[in-house]
Amino acid sequence: MSKVSARGLVKVYGQGDTLVRALDGVDVDLDGAHLTAVMGPSGSGKSTLMHCLAGLDRATAGTIVVDGTEIGRMSQRRLTALRRTRVGFVFQSYNLVPTLTAEENITLPLDIARATVDRAWFDEVVAAVGLENRLHHRPAELSGGQQQRVACARALVSRPSVVFADEPTGNLDSRSSAEVLGFLRRSVDELGQTVVMVTHDPRAASYAHRVLFLADGRIAGDLMDPTQQTVL
Ligand code: ADP
Ligand code: ADP
Repeated sequence: MSKVSARGLVKVYGQGDTLVRALDGVDVDLDGAHLTAVMGPSGSGKSTLMHCLAGLDRATAGTIVVDGTEIGRMSQRRLTALRRTRVGFVFQSYNLVPTLTAEENITLPLDIARATVDRAWFDEVVAAVGLENRLHHRPAELSGGQQQRVACARALVSRPSVVFADEPTGNLDSRSSAEVLGFLRRSVDELGQTVVMVTHDPRAASYAHRVLFLADGRIAGDLMDPTQQTVL
């Protein structure tokens, strides 16, 4: 069973004469332990698709199943609970709390949910993201790439079913981008996570197991294992 499936997904913004059909009939199945990159021109519907799949925004029509549950039928309260516990998020701006250390930022979602930290998993995530020596630093003492890696570790710490990343390398130089993309890839290959990222970054495609191309709110291309098909 797919981790995330969408059928006939439509999202219309606005009303009256100013309707924008941001998604126009998207069918997609995202498998577990895959890094999927969603690419396409600006305005093609990438963010809208991610927001709908992640339960941050409601679709106008169609069905979305995340981890066996149809999220369109969920109450707002259950949807909020799903976002807190089953889904991890990484944004372009790292959204760290400046007064907390890296470690405190990473465990914040668990603290908010009053859940206990699985130390073995925490250590595994921190090692995979290469932050062992930065745990007591505050965001201002970290580079952009390190801050984004803290944000990635925070997204993974509750062992979510799916991690959604929205332009995770949008603010980073090429070296830091490579660190973050490398970590997202390893979180899939070594830690078994499922990651969906929206990106403009041409480098990102080479790290993904699968690239979906959107154009005008529709899936215009679907490429498996792009590293094996393209010359880097
Ligand atoms: P992308 O992420 O590929 O740049 P978006 O999903 O942000 O595309 O946008 C798809 C389309 O929907 C665009 O035409 C955009 O202007 C429109 N759109 C996005 N969000 C809104 C909104 N909140 N209200 C009205 N139109 C929106
Ligand atoms: P490591 O090689 O230490 O595991 P990296 O961060 O260099 O860590 O890479 C993690 C994964 O990302 C690699 O296993 C590989 O699948 C992929 N990867 C790394 N660099 C590239 C690249 N330039 N292009 C495509 N995929 C890459």
